[in-house]
Amino acid sequence: MISCGPSLPQWTLSLKSLPALKEKDIELWANQSRIPKAVLTKGYGNFAESYVHDVEVRTAIDGCCVRAKCFKSMKKNDPPHSLNLKLSIIDGCVKISECLCSCKAGEGDCNHILGLLYLLHHYCKCGYKTVPTLQSKTSLKQTWHIPARTDGITPKKYRTLIFKRFLYQNQLRDQLKQNVFVLMV
Ligand SMILES: [Zn+2]
Repeated sequence: MISCGPSLPQWTLSLKSLPALKEKDIELWANQSRIPKAVLTKGYGNFAESYVHDVEVRTAIDGCCVRAKCFKSMKKNDPPHSLNLKLSIIDGCVKISECLCSCKAGEGDCNHILGLLYLLHHYCKCGYKTVPTLQSKTSLKQTWHIPARTDGITPKKYRTLIFKRFLYQNQLRDQLKQNVFVLMV
């Protein structure tokens, strides 16, 4: 019988081993890694715009390893960057290490890694137990039968439009006090 030895933990969607990553942990790490503010902002944008996806977690002795993908740009058809990092708890503090990205900056202090860090912080803040699955347009319920908000509104010639003046109650009261006759169309 062939022994495979102790097998490595699997990549899963479970966030049980994810240390409670705070925003200040990210900022401290960014500061220590001398990451410019502009990269930090761009990284936050990668998170906010949902560029970071396919997050998977593998339990480690002192925390966990995380891998994910990040879209390169608005062109989401381009192959995404591959990201890896490790979060561990050392002396009660979250330590960010082993950051790797397939982009040119590559050393792990790029805006893609920051996007992933902000996303992980978001997961912690929301108390997610597993990586939430992003709902793609095609996996959502069909909505074609729901009328659009613009239904019934069609372009019209300027001359055919009627403009109505709206008066606030106190404006109206003031004008009545002054015996001003207001013609409301
Ligand atoms: Zn990168």
